[in-house]
Formats: sequence, structure tokens, C-alpha cells
Amino acid sequence: MMRFLTVVALAFIAGCSQVQHPPQPVAVNIVAINDLHGYLQANTFSYSDANGEHKVRAGGIATLGGMLAQLRQQDPHLLFIGAGDLVGASPPLSAMWADEPTLDALHMMGMNLSAIGNHELDNGKAEFLRQVNGGCNSSRPTKACQFRPAYGGSGVPYIAANLIDTDTGKTLLPPYRIKTVNGVKVAFVGAVLRDVAAVVSAKGMQGLSVQDEADSINQLIPELEAQGANAIVAVVHQGGATPEAFDQQDCQHLSGDIVDVAKRLDPAVDVLISAHSHQGYLCKVGPLLVTQGSSFGHLMTHLTLDVTPGQHHVTRIQATNLLADPAKYPADPKLAALQQEVEARSNAVLLQPVGAIAVASITRSADDAGESPLGDLIADVQLAVGAADGAKIGFTNTGGIRNDLALEPGQRLLNYGQVATVQPFDNAVVAFDLSGRQLEAVLNLQWKTDEDVNFLQVSKGFTYRWDASRPLNSRVVPGSIRLNGKQLKAEGRYRVVMNSFLAAGGDRFAIFKEGRNRRDLGISDQEALIDYLKAMEQKGQPVGSASSAGRIVRVK
Ligand SMILES: [Zn+2]
Repeated sequence: MMRFLTVVALAFIAGCSQVQHPPQPVAVNIVAINDLHGYLQANTFSYSDANGEHKVRAGGIATLGGMLAQLRQQDPHLLFIGAGDLVGASPPLSAMWADEPTLDALHMMGMNLSAIGNHELDNGKAEFLRQVNGGCNSSRPTKACQFRPAYGGSGVPYIAANLIDTDTGKTLLPPYRIKTVNGVKVAFVGAVLRDVAAVVSAKGMQGLSVQDEADSINQLIPELEAQGANAIVAVVHQGGATPEAFDQQDCQHLSGDIVDVAKRLDPAVDVLISAHSHQGYLCKVGPLLVTQGSSFGHLMTHLTLDVTPGQHHVTRIQATNLLADPAKYPADPKLAALQQEVEARSNAVLLQPVGAIAVASITRSADDAGESPLGDLIADVQLAVGAADGAKIGFTNTGGIRNDLALEPGQRLLNYGQVATVQPFDNAVVAFDLSGRQLEAVLNLQWKTDEDVNFLQVSKGFTYRWDASRPLNSRVVPGSIRLNGKQLKAEGRYRVVMNSFLAAGGDRFAIFKEGRNRRDLGISDQEALIDYLKAMEQKGQPVGSASSAGRIVRVK
């Protein structure tokens, strides 16, 4: 009987096509988040639009879950995807548990897939695979499986077409996944920024290499089309920026590294979901829509693709960036309960007092010369750790300082949570020797272009001048580098100290890799800062300043 009905139904459909009804497009709904960075709680979202500057609270797993529930009511076949950096560089609330509560939350939210980001690799490929697949065999034994005795894994299938496992010569992850929705096939193909090795520690990149994003995606297009993909979505952990508002339709002024990727993608790619630069946008690069949903759970990018069955054809794409406003979406009860459990179990640790500071806030914002008060303090902390090992100069990277060190109104002592947020990576502190010539060369690497400048923060006693009118690779004024008032000698040997990310040539400071007589000082940068603040508190000498110390001097 069933067979008979099927035959009748097929005959009916065949009859339809004979009178040449064109196939009708079906709607595919996709929501994307990127750069969640373990933000379990709502947090401050600053943005500007035609009405000026705004500061609102947005995000949090309970609200994101509530948004998903509402969107799934409208379309139960909604696809929920990530664009990388979902964990890593997280607030202590998540970081202290090796991000397992965030990974549990993604599992509960039913994330269908994600492109891999750089921060998923912070602790190497084995630890990344543990995050997905579960287990307690971790490189972070004091954090892993502490929240739950047996961690089950996020189960989120990651994709990356350009990340190669050098042990096998193949991609570490499947390059793409095809999801069938309402009878059409949507292919998602992933990639991580090709410069990932410059932003992940050398240890994290062990056994991995990376290829060009656009080339890796483009070479898969024939395979995706052979598999009958009706739409192709590229998900790339790389980004850009625009002065336009996060919800501006078809914004026109996207700049940054993602633009080159977008321009070189095969025209068969229907939309590019981007990430990494923590910006919200719905821009066009030529005919291609390029989106990003800010960071920290502030925005969800909602895409509706009208896809024609039977062919590779997307007739229309609608895109919006939805603000994850806790007042607008009822919290998902299960995710709210998870958040409360994490808060209750973390608070005892996070609220432990560490020490006072001399001003209400030590900012990480740099002055015109590139120096920040918090950069000064952290470089001094590194020097204090390295002094016993003979170090004379401390360095730190601006990008590694993730928050200001600031007291709440009425608060006297900073707590562990506030300090840990400033240096969440928990990198080791490493000392080694460099020549004066190498030091001058490394300082000159700070200027890649006039716009792309990445300043090193330096410890007390180390000073130099730079001049914006000099050529890019020699902006440091020759002869201006001094240590405790004495000019640096090109052939002199200077012991330096810094975090292990920078020591391994991170943030494009490759010369640091050439250092000799390396020693891991057996303490993390986060512990070092906490110990320093505690020690200075005991001495009654709270540290820090509201303005930078003038170690870096800009001449022009
Ligand atoms: Zn990133």
C-alpha cells in the first residue's frame, strides 16, 4: 500500500515538472556567533551609530539560549554555528575551569558546527580535541575536570580547510560539513586565519601548519558542487573593521585582512561569515556579503538564505545582527541554572583579596607614544620575576593585556578575579639573552604599516625614542635606546624577560626566537602579577599610576 502511494506521489511530482513549474526557493535560517571567549555572563557592549555612542549590557549564555529558543520557534530547522574563538582568553569564571562550563553551554545550545579560531589552539591540538571529545587527560590538570568529575566534551564538530596536521599531512579537522535543511543542501566550509602561527604560542602550534584561507576554500568548490550543495557558506576566523554601525545593511567600508580573503573567494561562495576582529558588520565586498557578530556574545548574526532546490542557486540573502539584550529575550532556564552554578562555585576563589593599587584604575590604553600605565606595571612585574635570573629588561605585548586593572567604587583591595582578567592566558615567564643589535631590530618590528602598529611595553630603566617621519623598518632613533641611562651597545649581551607567547616570536616579534640561554622561570604571568600585588600590599607600597612613565618617547 505504502509503495503504491509513493509511486502515485512521484507520478504527481513528475507531472508537475512536465508543465514546467520552476522549483520554488526554500528559506534556510542560520545564526552565527563568533569570539564568545568564554563569556558566560552578560557584559558591557560599547558601540556607536548615527545616534552617538552607546554602552549596554549584552550577551550571556542564558540570553543567547533564550534567543535561540525564540528563533527555533519560528524555524525548528534553524542552524546554529560558530566562527571560532568560542573559548580561550576567557574571564576567570570560565578560564578557571579550563572553559568546560562554556563548552557545556555550547553543547546545550545545540551548536551545529564551528570554524576553529586561534584561541581554540592556545593549549595545543591535543587539548583542543579534548575540549570537543571530552576526557580528563589535559595539559591543564589543575583546571580540567574540576567543574565536573568527568568532562563529556562540547561535541561541536569543528571545520577547517586550511589547518594541516603535520603528523598526517592531512587537515586536522574535516574541511567542510553539509547540512540538509528543508530539502536543500547547505555546505559550510571553514578556515582559520593564515597567520594563526603569529597569534598562537609556538607550543600551541606544535604539529600544525596552515595554508591560505581563500585557496583552501576555493579548491573544495568542485567537490562541494559534486556533492549537490545548493548553497555554500564560508566561515573564516579572520576579520576586518568598518566605521559603519553593526546593523547597517550592505555596509561599504570594510577594511582589514578579511577583505583580501573575500575578494579572492570563488564566486560560488554565497556568504562569508567572519570573526577575530571583534567587530559587528553586515558588509559587501564586491557582490559578496561578509558578516561578523562582534564578540563576547553581544550579537547574533541571523541569515536567511532563499535556496532553490535542485541547483546551486541562492536567490536572496537577508542578514541582521541581533543584539543579545537580556531585557528583550527571556533567559533559557537550563543555561541560567548552569551560569548560577558556575558563579556560586567560582566566587569563593574569585573574591579572594589580592592587593591595593595606588590609583582607582591602571589603564591599558596607550598614550601617543605607544606606552600604557598597565603595560609599564606588567613589564616591571616581569622584570621583578626575572631579576634573580639576571634579567635587566622586561617586555610585554599590548595584545596580551586584556583588561584594565581597576577598583569598583568603594573597593579597597583588588580581588583574584579582577587581576586574572587582565592576564587570562596564564603564559609561562621566560628569560633569555639578546644582543643590543637584536633589541634595536625587535623594536623596529613594531611598525608594520602606519596603521598596523603593535607596541611592546617595557620595564623601568629601559628607554628609547622613535620618529614617525623615519622609514617603517627604522623608526627607532639610532643611538636613543638606553638602559639605566647608558646607551645600548650593539655587541652587548642583555638578559630579557617576557611571557612565553612573546618569547616564542608571538605578535610578529620573530627576533625573540633567536634568544640564547633560555630559561622558563617556573611561574605564569598571571601568578607573577598576583604575587607582585600581594607582596607590594604587604610592604604597604601599592603600585600603579594613572599615566604612563614616559619610557617610550615619540619625537614626531
Ligand atoms: Zn581570533
